[in-house]
Amino acid sequence: MAVPASVEERRAALEALRREAESCRRCDLWRDATQLVFGEGPVDAPAMLVGEQPGDVEDRTGRPFVGPAGRVLDRALAEVGLERERLYITNAVKHFKFSSRGRRRIHQKPDVGEIEACRVWLLREIEIVDPPVVAALGATALRALTGRVTAVTRLRGRFLSWEGRELFVTVHPSSILRIEDEAAQERAYAAFRADLVKLAARLRNEAPGVTPPAQGRLFG
Ligand code: SF4
Repeated sequence: MAVPASVEERRAALEALRREAESCRRCDLWRDATQLVFGEGPVDAPAMLVGEQPGDVEDRTGRPFVGPAGRVLDRALAEVGLERERLYITNAVKHFKFSSRGRRRIHQKPDVGEIEACRVWLLREIEIVDPPVVAALGATALRALTGRVTAVTRLRGRFLSWEGRELFVTVHPSSILRIEDEAAQERAYAAFRADLVKLAARLRNEAPGVTPPAQGRLFG
């Protein structure tokens, strides 16, 4: 598919893609989810942030990163001087996967088949938004983008060359929330914030771009 030229055409293409995805049956996650949670943000955003999948709040509201993990992300973005409204924010998987425990809906990690099935929507979002920088928040996003299983800890805080763009890697903010020890949680948040400082500097063209791997192959 050729990338439409103007912002208006790209906005229309993105909306058409969202409508198309609403009737997606490529995996079974649509069955129990409330609704599709598509990406949101400017179609000409300088960076796209890719998370894992919608959570409980996102599933109910239809918007990405508006639950507890979203609040961590919002706090860190604000602290490093990045405006959320200027970024395109989406997820690797567009429907909420959960198991029911009484009235509670417990998050379940999407499996490889679901990540692969949903990848087509993510790649088409990237094609239309065409951001110079794509940021993978966590292992699922990294898996969806690269098609490979790679340890986030190995690549976090770095800009990698990927499909003609820069791929930036950091953790998913929900991983910080899962840490029970308060001091460890604070350290994890500080490390996440430090990653976003690099992203913010890069978007202001104040930081160097793609760096070669310190050793070995980047992925795999
Ligand atoms: S999670 Fe993705 S692949 Fe699965 S039904 Fe939803 S949109 Fe389709």
